[in-house]
Amino acid sequence: MTILGTAGVIPDPQRAQSGYLLEKDGRLVLVDCGSGVFSRLAQLSIDWRQLDTFLLTHLHLDHMSDLLSIWVARWLMGAPTVTLYGPAGTREFITKILELFPYIRDHVRVTVHELWAGQTLSLAGFAVSTLAYKFDDTVVICGDSEPEPALVEFVRGYKVLVHECSFPDDARVPLHTSPTHLGEVLAHAEVEWLVLPHLYPQAAAQPEEVIKAVQKGFPKRVTVATDLQTIEL
Ligand SMILES: [Zn+2]
Repeated sequence: MTILGTAGVIPDPQRAQSGYLLEKDGRLVLVDCGSGVFSRLAQLSIDWRQLDTFLLTHLHLDHMSDLLSIWVARWLMGAPTVTLYGPAGTREFITKILELFPYIRDHVRVTVHELWAGQTLSLAGFAVSTLAYKFDDTVVICGDSEPEPALVEFVRGYKVLVHECSFPDDARVPLHTSPTHLGEVLAHAEVEWLVLPHLYPQAAAQPEEVIKAVQKGFPKRVTVATDLQTIEL
């Protein structure tokens, strides 16, 4: 897994918006695709034209704004077919956006699959489960949310949990995560390594403090994610 973007809505020179590239046996899946992710993809030594499988955690702009840019570029490079997985509403959402861009709609061939919590599916060689997205038996990637108690059971025995940590404790915002709360909720989670992306500037400016606050409740390996960080699974 290569983490392509680790910012929330506000990017900085070191952080694009959300994106995770998973690679297995030469096959690629992109989870989320915020602003700047396409540029990060182009920085990797991969052929991004081979990337035809996309998965969205939710339908917010900082998780999908580069999606059509990648699709158009692939089409111009001779690869017009893509498959998109996302939550309920994804099909209508994409259909409406493509109506605004007939030149894309008429050339890019999109197949949409809507997912629901508790589903399992095979996707580009990975076995994927949903609540957050689980890939095989190694990594769990969460979308934007407050810490969810059901995760404790969901991540049991996994190696890596990627969970947003948008704001420090003193700037806590509803529907997003702050570090002390995350540590409390994950206190009994049996996962080896917690990776924290989706950092707003207030959190990105104090990574050590963020890690310490999480570890008060979750005293295991915790790191703040960086763009283009690769994690061997
Ligand atoms: Zn977000």
